[in-house]
Amino acid sequence: MTLFEFNLGIKVILNFFKNLFKSAENETEAEVLEPRIYARSEHCISRSQISENALKVLYRLQKSGFEAYLVGGCVRDLLLGREPKDFDVVTDADPEQIKKIFRNCRLIGRRFRLAHVYFGREVIEVATFRGSGEEQSDEQMQDKEGRLLRDNVYGTIDEDVWRRDFTVNALYYNIKDFSVVDYTGGMNDHKAGILRLIGDPETRFREDPVRMLRAVRFAVKLGFNLDPGCQKAIHKGAEWLYGIPAARLYDEVLKLFLSGYGLQTFEMLRQYGLFRVLFPETESSLSVEENGFPKLLLMKALENSDNRIGEGKTVTAYFLLAAFLWEPVQMRTAANRAQGQDDYMAFQNAVGEVLSRQVKSTAFPRHISLAMREVWGLQSKFNVRTGAKPARLLSHPRFRAAYDFMLLRAETGGADAEMADWWTRFQMADENEQKKMTQPPRGGGRSKTGRKRMYSKKTRSGPGKKEE
Ligand code: ATP
Ligand code: MG
Repeated sequence: MTLFEFNLGIKVILNFFKNLFKSAENETEAEVLEPRIYARSEHCISRSQISENALKVLYRLQKSGFEAYLVGGCVRDLLLGREPKDFDVVTDADPEQIKKIFRNCRLIGRRFRLAHVYFGREVIEVATFRGSGEEQSDEQMQDKEGRLLRDNVYGTIDEDVWRRDFTVNALYYNIKDFSVVDYTGGMNDHKAGILRLIGDPETRFREDPVRMLRAVRFAVKLGFNLDPGCQKAIHKGAEWLYGIPAARLYDEVLKLFLSGYGLQTFEMLRQYGLFRVLFPETESSLSVEENGFPKLLLMKALENSDNRIGEGKTVTAYFLLAAFLWEPVQMRTAANRAQGQDDYMAFQNAVGEVLSRQVKSTAFPRHISLAMREVWGLQSKFNVRTGAKPARLLSHPRFRAAYDFMLLRAETGGADAEMADWWTRFQMADENEQKKMTQPPRGGGRSKTGRKRMYSKKTRSGPGKKEE
């Protein structure tokens, strides 16, 4: 065989395989575009599990001649037999048409125009199907990294579906016949407990890097596994999150940590290198762990708030965030002090520095950072246990949160356990007892418990530590 014949032979074989793959590709595309319809008898979603208001919206849209589906998290959660957090409706009516149908309705959003239909405290979100909009138009814009900036092209259900993030989030419950419409294999992934991005993971994460945070949130909440392609893309792309506005990341942080699975979420975010993008200084402080103390406080705070949520109690964002950033504040205080600043200024400056850096990643509203400052600032006041100050501290509006925070520090070795116990007793004591408890020790001089440098690492030695 000549070299020419050999090359020709190779070319023929290559073309054969190329054509083979091409037709296989076309076949799968054609298959995927045709939805699988799960009839009412083939799934477990019943109308009795759906909020009455969501049903009202669905039926009203249908009566007005439009298509109406439940979609997203509510369908996913209903299939697991869980109560959905909220109900999202999608329709072929455009926002203006939706507004005409519902009087109790407001149009919101710039990036995605949506209708909110209000029923007392319940809000049903009604979106119009998004279109695919192949070419860049005014209504659909991407930046040079492939990130979607605006996406207001309306379309049909079979276009809308490809814009959703995960296959299990792209199941549509049709009010017309109570079937579930599945274009992406979401039902099978749901059964197998897999979170799979629709389309190429890297492209989809670049388009909107917040999807990486959503992947972690859903994996933990649902107990699902991320499919390997998704895992690989997150490992590669954690840094894409740097381009996301800090206000949006703050909203996401609340969802990540205040949904009852904060501790596991924290661990998974760290594992994927996402936590350090959200809380850079906290991440650095965790790597200089000292007998496990820093990590413990944060983890204990997350565990406590998960438990509270599990018991139906409320949790506050500022408390948890104060715990996240306590260690960075401590470290900066120590550094400022080492530069010759006095205790008070070292601490105040540290608080300012930590907060101003953190808001670049996750923009807290002002009332949140104020509350954090208060909780941190009150910590030193617990060291004073004589005179009128302890009673005054009890009536401080932020006392309860600051006390809980101090207990957390004590529990994790960052504050004196004996002092924590004193404050617990002091709150329960009657006026006479309180007076006795706050009397200076006989012999004058500074009370043993009267003054303690709390910002130094020395307090970590816990109970029995000598005062300075
Ligand atoms: P939950 O409400 O339980 O947090 P969810 O999946 O309903 O989860 P939402 O933020 O309410 O989340 O979004 C509703 C649906 O909109 C999602 O299920 C998904 O189909 C789509 N969606 C939301 N955010 C994105 C995104 N960033 N990229 C693509 N699709 C998204
Ligand atoms: Mg939702």
